[in-house]
Amino acid sequence: MFHKVAVIGLGLIGGSFAAAIKQRGLAQQVVAGVRSKRTLQQGLALGHIDAGSDDLAEVVKDADVVFVSVPVSAMEAVFRAMKPGLSSTVIITDGGSVKGNVIQAAINALPEFLPQVVPGHPIAGKEKSGVEAADGNLYEKHRVILTPMEQTLPQATQKITALWQALGAEVLCMSADEHDKVLAETSHLPHLIAFSLVDTLARQGDSMEIFRYAAGGFRDFTRIASSDPTMWHDIFLENKAAVLAATDLFTEGLAQFRQFVAQADSAELLGIMTRANSARRHFLAMSANTAYSTVQPNLDETAMSADSQTSQANPTFVVNPGGTVKGEVRLPGDKSISHRSIMLGALAEGTTKVEGFLEGEDALATIQAFRDMGVVIEGPQAGKVTVHGVGLHGLKAPNRSLYMGNSGTTMRLLMGLLSGQQFDTQLTGDESLTKRPMERVAKPLREMNAVINTSDGTPPVDIHGAQALKPISYQMPMASAQVKSAIMLAGLYADGVTEVIEPAPSRDHTERMLAGFGYPVERDGNRVRVTGGGRLTACELEVPADISSAAFFMVAACIAPGSDLTLRHVGINPTRTGIIDILKLMGADITIENERDSGGEPVADIRVRYAQLKGIRIPEELVPLAIDEFPVLFVAAATAEGETVLTGAEELRVKESDRIQVMADGLASFGVDVETFADGLRIVGQESYGGGEVESHHDHRIAMSFTVAALRATAPITIHGCGTVATSFPGFAELANHVGLNVEVQA
Ligand code: NAP
Repeated sequence: MFHKVAVIGLGLIGGSFAAAIKQRGLAQQVVAGVRSKRTLQQGLALGHIDAGSDDLAEVVKDADVVFVSVPVSAMEAVFRAMKPGLSSTVIITDGGSVKGNVIQAAINALPEFLPQVVPGHPIAGKEKSGVEAADGNLYEKHRVILTPMEQTLPQATQKITALWQALGAEVLCMSADEHDKVLAETSHLPHLIAFSLVDTLARQGDSMEIFRYAAGGFRDFTRIASSDPTMWHDIFLENKAAVLAATDLFTEGLAQFRQFVAQADSAELLGIMTRANSARRHFLAMSANTAYSTVQPNLDETAMSADSQTSQANPTFVVNPGGTVKGEVRLPGDKSISHRSIMLGALAEGTTKVEGFLEGEDALATIQAFRDMGVVIEGPQAGKVTVHGVGLHGLKAPNRSLYMGNSGTTMRLLMGLLSGQQFDTQLTGDESLTKRPMERVAKPLREMNAVINTSDGTPPVDIHGAQALKPISYQMPMASAQVKSAIMLAGLYADGVTEVIEPAPSRDHTERMLAGFGYPVERDGNRVRVTGGGRLTACELEVPADISSAAFFMVAACIAPGSDLTLRHVGINPTRTGIIDILKLMGADITIENERDSGGEPVADIRVRYAQLKGIRIPEELVPLAIDEFPVLFVAAATAEGETVLTGAEELRVKESDRIQVMADGLASFGVDVETFADGLRIVGQESYGGGEVESHHDHRIAMSFTVAALRATAPITIHGCGTVATSFPGFAELANHVGLNVEVQA
């Protein structure tokens, strides 16, 4: 890659850079410019360099790259010393921890060379210094920040980027000012605090007796106070302005914390700590699988690592054939209800305790949004969340956009809820949410006086508060639980009775939960009404298990001979129970036990025993009530006696995948007789079928359905692309194995 690379300052950073280039054979010659003879001898003995000298001008002669890694305060003198030897085509870069002062040093000492100067900072290090600590793999999977100046030639930046990448690093570019601010906050401030804390305690009393009582927490917190004092002294002074600003910010936060302790203000204290807790989880999730996640996750952090794996890993499921499904299980909570428990809990007066909360990424985004609006939320911890409600008018203006992740439900419901606030908000989401339509909700809300701007119909959505909302009677053009919910939530803030008229029944979780929180909701045929200005009262809520998740296990127990499975606390909201009706029509042995009410939602335990199913013609009126459950129902049909015919389900072709085609192709590849139509299919059931390899098409329900299919297969079924399963149903494979399936998860 290079003819000659010169490294000036052969300490930890420079020595590691030289060693990494030598190890990878990226330059014909690596030479060092040193201050002490001893360092040169060490560098040569360790094999990190080919030659070196204390004559810096001599060292840099004919070098195509010069990397300067001396203390930032020494940079200018070093630049001056090496200048006479620099070639006209050289690229000069550095490893200094502060960038503004390095750039100033270059401007002072090397004005003619500025287009060839690429300031940089490897975010890597150790508590040890000197060439003896150098390590050729130090930069692997670490970040390097480059801060090219206005004058820097793009080709020079590209060359240095390629060099760092060849050393295994990830390269980011930003301005020097931004670098110095960000580093002051995330690196320099923590070091300053660690040094200060240890010193403060060490100065107590005559001896250091206090440390006899310090344990693991103290050691972890103060690890970085073992860093090189001279280097850090240098950094604090070199980055003085940004370090002072960060220290002031922290001092302010600390003073506030102190005040809340003094006043025993437990709500504010919990607010700080729960926010910090979730922010740290977020940080750990972001840094998972990078060089910065060397800390073993403790129990608190396992939830986060599950999240981060969700978005990154895309495992293959290999499911061995056969098996019997037995036992009692509690499946993850319903997502729609998890979202609403946070929203209504936040608007309620008092403390709402939620159990069975689905800790998926979407529901966590809802929690974060309400935290950003000043609501104190503890957890989630093993499905438990405590929401300290602020009342209908207690939300505070967030100081940034509210991020909804991938959750269209959260965004649409919040559009209604936020239309009634006294402050402005902006709602954003991930890339896929940014493409989804929001006007369907915005339009009726505007009729209520809400001021909402979408970006050509899609997020980001801007909502201007402080509007007096007026009640409307809205005839929905098509049934939609999200539109209905948004209008009802806005209706809580309208002066009078807000009414929604549905053309067909849609899910009614919002109405039920409002009632669960003691807010009167009037239902009259296809009309739902709320009167604004009431109050929600905190309650205890156990989120029912999601019947869509339960469907996989219901079908599993139906088709595997000898099975007897009980699914505890499953939501049996009549708008969702088509799966039970269809399976019963096919002859399934399903009993609904222990029916009860939980926060307004009907729940029950569902017991399913094996029974030979019969093929049926699925009644079209049941299709909307089981729309998400068809992939697994097709598996049930493949094992039933006779043929099953589905029609009137064209919607299945435009779900996460074309569920008719994908399931038909997979089942046919196992040897099942399947015929597809535009709006459905015909499946001829059989005693058993073969196995094989199928694609999930990134559709979680397809992946889980084929997993269940293995119970009646004669050979293993391999399902590729199962990453989406973890998002919708965390722990699916483990639960499946727990009840008797045999799923191997391969990376
Ligand atoms: P180090 O191990 O102490 O090495 C510093 C090197 O600079 C030594 O080889 C030293 O030479 C030489 N040096 C010191 N003062 C000098 C002077 N006045 N003139 C000429 N050479 C001088 O330090 P380091 O950790 O490698 O740090 C080097 C640079 O990298 C600093 O700018 C630091 O901010 C930055 N950095 C450090 C870390 C980290 O965690 N350590 C991380 C990222 C960036 P002798 O061996 O002859 O004394």
